[in-house]
Amino acid sequence: MPKTLIEPFRIKSIEPIRMTTRADRERLLAEAKLNVFKLHAEDVLIDWLTDSGTGAMSSRQWGAIMEGDESYAGARSFYRLQAVIEDITGMKHFIPTHQGRAAEKVLFTAVCQRGDLVPNNCHFDTTRANLEYLGVDARDLVIAEGLQPALIHPFKGNIDLAKAEALLKAEGHRIPFGMLTVTNNTGGGQPVSMANIRAYAALLKAHGKPFIMDVCRFAENAMFIKLREPGYENTSVRDIAKEMFSHADGATMSAKKDAMVNIGGFIVLRSDDWMDAARNVLIMTEGFPTYGGLAGRDLEAMAVGLEEGLQEDYLRYRLRTAEYLGERLDEAGIGFVKPTGGHAVYIDARTVLPGMPVAHYPAWALCNALYLEGGIRGVEIGSVMFGKRLDDGTETFHTMELVRLAFPRRMYTQSHFDYAAEVIAEVKQKASAIRGVRITKQPKFLRHFTCECDWVG
Ligand SMILES: *Cc1c(COP(=O)(O)O)cnc(C)c1O
Repeated sequence: MPKTLIEPFRIKSIEPIRMTTRADRERLLAEAKLNVFKLHAEDVLIDWLTDSGTGAMSSRQWGAIMEGDESYAGARSFYRLQAVIEDITGMKHFIPTHQGRAAEKVLFTAVCQRGDLVPNNCHFDTTRANLEYLGVDARDLVIAEGLQPALIHPFKGNIDLAKAEALLKAEGHRIPFGMLTVTNNTGGGQPVSMANIRAYAALLKAHGKPFIMDVCRFAENAMFIKLREPGYENTSVRDIAKEMFSHADGATMSAKKDAMVNIGGFIVLRSDDWMDAARNVLIMTEGFPTYGGLAGRDLEAMAVGLEEGLQEDYLRYRLRTAEYLGERLDEAGIGFVKPTGGHAVYIDARTVLPGMPVAHYPAWALCNALYLEGGIRGVEIGSVMFGKRLDDGTETFHTMELVRLAFPRRMYTQSHFDYAAEVIAEVKQKASAIRGVRITKQPKFLRHFTCECDWVG
């Protein structure tokens, strides 16, 4: 068997990407106030800002789009998608939503109350925001290993069961349900083991609490279980996914991830009561329960995408891609969150810019340097994203300075990854010339999206 793992698809339709010169990029970044979120996408060569809704759909998905039934109520496309989702999740009730955060908003509005507390391995930022908006305490309980970037552990997304149990005992009256995010996006796209899912489900059940999974990357998580968890080597990824769902009472999903579409999401639930409550909210905010804020064609594309996202040769290639870039970074002496996750590589900016003070935002500086050097766009996960400027003008900083390179599905080939590895290594060579930034203008919340910066030094 040849060792090279190839992209398990060939290209039928292409989209040109535009080369720019370094002088162009210096001007463009200056116009964007040193904030890559403000760049026009067509000025980016390799866009690894996010894997959310940015992937390529297959010819089967585009074919299915033509079959979309746009009836307001009871569309054929709804029933087709429902059948696929019921087969994978085993759950009776399903409603579409326009994306993952809408699923969260609808479910939480239906079943949470002010003063509640929801444990999770790590809440994704929209999950946390939707809970906090309702006055709910969103508590992160990932295992200690999950917080150490360089430490290797097969399931760094696991929830700390002892902490979860202590919380259920001490604060059980405030907990409407327990959550678990698979894979753990905020913690580096790290998987959760089946043993952890099973034990957490049993713990919640013993305390009479429903178990809701955030399943945006359930297929990648299932593949990690197959590759890493003893006893699952010979189980199909589809059956592993089914077992994951069998332990849960419900799930929220962003179909922009493992359902391989550009827009969409859903909620699945076992409970009739919760579904009635969720449907009532859905009708107010998203639409009628058989379309939930989507067009019939979107439901068709999702039905096909869910099947394609579970194909093992695709998943093997998908996880291998991140691992491959990790190997190239290792060779160049660049640190990153280990092992590589499913959808992204998280570079530890301190290993590239060890001398830069945190007040000059090293991960932000590295993001800018990657764009200037090679037209690559990543996202800072550091002190611009998670730090704050306080009213007295002082700053708080984040514990880690990471740059996330997130890979759209089925978009970039191995030569794009080789190119990126070369650019990143080149940036490290020139690290002494990389300048930090100061923030000249910022909003009060989520400042990374819109802040304006200037160079320091
Ligand atoms: C993307 C994501 C969401 C939110 O989904 P959207 O479709 O972006 O609204 C929620 N949880 C996790 C883990 C995600 O990755």
